[in-house]
Amino acid sequence: MAMTWGLCRAWPNYYRSRLLRLASDCGISRPGFILSFDCDTDHDSAVVEKLHFRLRRLGLHPIYAVPAEVLRSALPAYKALAEDGAEFLNHGFRRHAARTENGTAISTFFYDPTRPEEWEQDIRRGHHAVVEALGQVPRGFRTPHFGSFEAGATLDRLWRFLAGMGYLYSSSTRPLFAAKHGPAFRRHGVTEIPVSGCLDQPAQILDSWGLLSNGAGGSSRLIAQLDAYRAIMQAGAPVLLNIYLDPADVAEKEQVIAALGRMAPYETEGGFNRLAIPAAGHTIS
Ligand SMILES: [Zn+2]
Repeated sequence: MAMTWGLCRAWPNYYRSRLLRLASDCGISRPGFILSFDCDTDHDSAVVEKLHFRLRRLGLHPIYAVPAEVLRSALPAYKALAEDGAEFLNHGFRRHAARTENGTAISTFFYDPTRPEEWEQDIRRGHHAVVEALGQVPRGFRTPHFGSFEAGATLDRLWRFLAGMGYLYSSSTRPLFAAKHGPAFRRHGVTEIPVSGCLDQPAQILDSWGLLSNGAGGSSRLIAQLDAYRAIMQAGAPVLLNIYLDPADVAEKEQVIAALGRMAPYETEGGFNRLAIPAAGHTIS
C-alpha cells in the first residue's frame, strides 16, 4: 500500500490515471457522483432540510450520515428527508463532534481508542435508532471521523461485523484505499466505497471539513475540484467521485451549491446501494 500511495502523492497524474483504471477493473463503466452529508452537530440539523430541498430541485439525491443522538434531536427535519426518499447511513449512536462558540468544529468521540465491543455496541444502537426513528433499515455504514479507524485488523473486524448485521456497504475509508484497491471493493461480504481525494493532492479528502472548516483552500478550491472531476466525467471516463460535506459548511455558499448542481447529470442512480449490489462484480481482493 505504501508504495502505491507514495507514487500517487508525488504524481497526482498517476493518481488520476490509476483511479480510472481501477474503476474499470471494478466494473464501473461510466462516470459516477455520490453526494453524502455528515450531520454531526445541531448546526447541521438546523440547515439540512432547506439545503436538501434546494439540492433536490437541482436534480440531486443526497445521502445522510447522522449519529443517532443528533438524529433524535431534530427528528422532524430528518423525517422530512426520509419521506422525500433520502437514504440514511448508520453513522453510529453517540455524538462525535461539536462546534465551539466561534463555530469551530471539534471532534469529541472516536472509535479507535474504544474496545471492539464498545464500537460494535455503538453501531448496533445506531442501527436500531435509524430503524425506529425513520422506519428505514440502513444498509450502509460510515465510521465516525475519517482516518482514525483504518488499521487492517480493525477494518476486517468492522466489515465482518457489518456483514453479519446485513449491511451491504461501508464508506468509511480515505482516498488511499481507492488508490490501492479501487473506488468500490468487496471485503468479507461488504462493499467498501472510500471517499475521494483532491485530484491535485490525493491525500486531501475532498470534503468541507478539510477544505472549508480547516482552511485547506476554501470554497474556491472545493468548486475547482468538483469542476476538475466534472471535466473527466464530461469526457465519459469512468471516474467515481464520492464526497461528503457538512451541511452547516455549505448551506449559505451559493457558488458551492451551484457547483454541486452541475454534477447532477453524473449522479449514480441508487447511490451507494447501486455500487454495493453483491453481484456487481467488485472482486478486487
Ligand atoms: Zn461524522
